[in-house]
Amino acid sequence: MHESRLDGSKIAVIGSGISGLAAAWALSKKYQVTVFESNNYLGGHANTAVCSHEGERFVTDTGFIVFNDRNYPHLNMLFDHLKVPIENSNMSFSASFPQRDLEYSGGDLRGLFAQKRNLLRPYFWRMLIDIARFYRKSEEYMRRDLDNVSIGQLLTLQRITAPRF
Ligand SMILES: Cc1cc2nc3c(=O)[nH]c(=O)nc-3n(C[C@H](O)[C@H](O)[C@H](O)COP(=O)(O)OP(=O)(O)OC[C@H]3O[C@@H](n4cnc5c(N)ncnc54)[C@H](O)[C@@H]3O)c2cc1C
Repeated sequence: MHESRLDGSKIAVIGSGISGLAAAWALSKKYQVTVFESNNYLGGHANTAVCSHEGERFVTDTGFIVFNDRNYPHLNMLFDHLKVPIENSNMSFSASFPQRDLEYSGGDLRGLFAQKRNLLRPYFWRMLIDIARFYRKSEEYMRRDLDNVSIGQLLTLQRITAPRF
């Protein structure tokens, strides 16, 4: 952006996600910025939901949750500059389907088979085989430098369909 072109200009930023807010914040030091947001809250996908259950209050980040030093240099700088507090986190995954009485978590065998009956569920085994195949094959595709292939396309290529729980 050429500053001379922007001097005295009014700038409209559409959207108050992290991109819009960061751009608006940076530009607002010099220019008159107006942020337009169609939602009734700021932040876009970066959102924290507060709910209560049986008298207990739960605070859950529904969108942006984790980042790391290696892949987020600019976001790190922004957080440092704004003194945004951060906490260490470990990435984990778990799923619960109460209507099917099915639960599992990723990471290790204990989590996958926390419900012993998962050992006897053919569709569960099929899902695990599909996941292993997906990882194996996807690495192969990445080595072939297929940068523009979406996850959906990779799934179709490997004929992987959603498990029928
Ligand atoms: C469930 C979930 C978990 C995620 N977890 C992570 C994570 O752990 N780590 C990570 O790095 N990323 C994560 N992401 C991705 C990350 O949240 C997004 O990449 C990032 O927040 C996108 O920011 P953005 O500003 O580009 O867009 P958005 O956050 O989508 O913001 C766009 C904003 O523009 C507004 N808007 C759109 N059109 C208009 C219009 N015409 N007029 C006015 N306003 C408009 C929208 O309402 C929205 O507020 C997650 C995303 C989701 C959905």
